[in-house]
Amino acid sequence: MKPKFVSLKANGELQRRISKVEEILKRCVLCARKCRVNRVKEEVGYCRVGKKPRIFGAHPHLGEEQILVPSATIFFAGCTMRCVYCQNAPESLTPEHGRIWSEEEIARWIEKMEQNGCRNVNFVGGEPTPYLWNILKALNLTNAKLPVVWNSNAYYSEQTAELLKGLVDIYLLDFRYFNPKCAIELSDAPNYPDVAKRNILAATKDSFLMVRLLVLPGHIECCAKPILRWLRKNIKRHFYLNIMDQYWPAYKASGYAKINRHLSPDEFREVTEFAKELGL
Ligand code: SF4
Repeated sequence: MKPKFVSLKANGELQRRISKVEEILKRCVLCARKCRVNRVKEEVGYCRVGKKPRIFGAHPHLGEEQILVPSATIFFAGCTMRCVYCQNAPESLTPEHGRIWSEEEIARWIEKMEQNGCRNVNFVGGEPTPYLWNILKALNLTNAKLPVVWNSNAYYSEQTAELLKGLVDIYLLDFRYFNPKCAIELSDAPNYPDVAKRNILAATKDSFLMVRLLVLPGHIECCAKPILRWLRKNIKRHFYLNIMDQYWPAYKASGYAKINRHLSPDEFREVTEFAKELGL
């Protein structure tokens, strides 16, 4: 099946979206923080991402969701959230840790990955949202025809959701907190549950949806189980769910008693059993 961006490119819509994102960058509202800084003039907001793509890794990924691999995965430096247990810190949180690439380089890299047998191109980070302009430009330049995987924390604005519509082939979205207080305490992400719910619902109407639930120690009743209940109730179409047990107390987690440990096998079992009971 032809990737969606190929049609948007052919009818000029991709170019129109590039122009739209450039306008948005003048008062950036790409993510739910809506800093409204002028990134065209090199002002930086919460994510500290500028105009140029900064990348801290790019290679065929063979782990995690087996139905996607090998996945040409490109890791953008900088993030719109600040998870105290960030598993990729400091690279993923700090744009300066990434090397500057041009959009042309990204376009050629995607072609090379296609020749190497990758099944899709997977935009991740950090977080890809602040780099939407660069991503669209690279897709417009590439001759590759790989499906696009949007691999995100789900904390992006409704404007970004609209710009992704009809372009993304697979949404791979985190859904980590159901309790807004947990999202603020552990990721400095106000209103995260509502934003994630809105984007997950939009994604499932638009394309194939994959949800990642990273189970956090001590957050079974407040977050993991209510998330599963919500997914059961609200997602009517077929979707893929990955319940992840790979949490470890990285980065600043030692300062947070509840999550300063690995997830126990019992906790993980409780969540997966609960998912099965719900029929997920
Ligand atoms: S992407 Fe988000 S955090 Fe970064 S400048 Fe734009 S609104 Fe702010």
